[in-house]
Amino acid sequence: MSTIFSQIVEGEIPARVVYEDETTLAFLDANPLAPGHTLVVPKDEYERLNDIPEDVADDLYDTIHRLVPAVEDAVDADASTVAFNNGEAAGQEVPHVHCHIVPRFEGDGGGPIHAVAGETPDLEDDELDEIAEDIESRA
Ligand code: AMP
Repeated sequence: MSTIFSQIVEGEIPARVVYEDETTLAFLDANPLAPGHTLVVPKDEYERLNDIPEDVADDLYDTIHRLVPAVEDAVDADASTVAFNNGEAAGQEVPHVHCHIVPRFEGDGGGPIHAVAGETPDLEDDELDEIAEDIESRA
């Protein structure tokens, strides 16, 4: 069963495509948070960022890098929020990696990325050190 974004890639369902190359596709979000809200996807189906091979990750970033200024300029935005909901617990609904480019405007009433957190932890220095070491050893 392919994802709704694979169906868009295959042309089986319509979308307002704004960019396409061999490995990536960008199209307008059907329920935009702002004018110009754009999604960038790898054409192949991977559920999370964690699943993407390096060459596809490079291509995906290239397309995001190309689209951010294009989207901002097209709607005369002051800024943009560029983000992935990476996994169901983070709010990902479509299990096909996608980057949201959400144009932002002075006084639009939205929040920063920091607004995604629930209760924030109160971590001691040694806990922070341990976490940093653990991440470093896996990176
Ligand atoms: P997420 O919660 O990160 O998985 O976001 C999924 C996004 O896909 C939402 O912003 C939806 O509005 C958007 N979406 C769902 N179906 C379509 C579609 N057929 N065409 C364009 N965007 C879609």
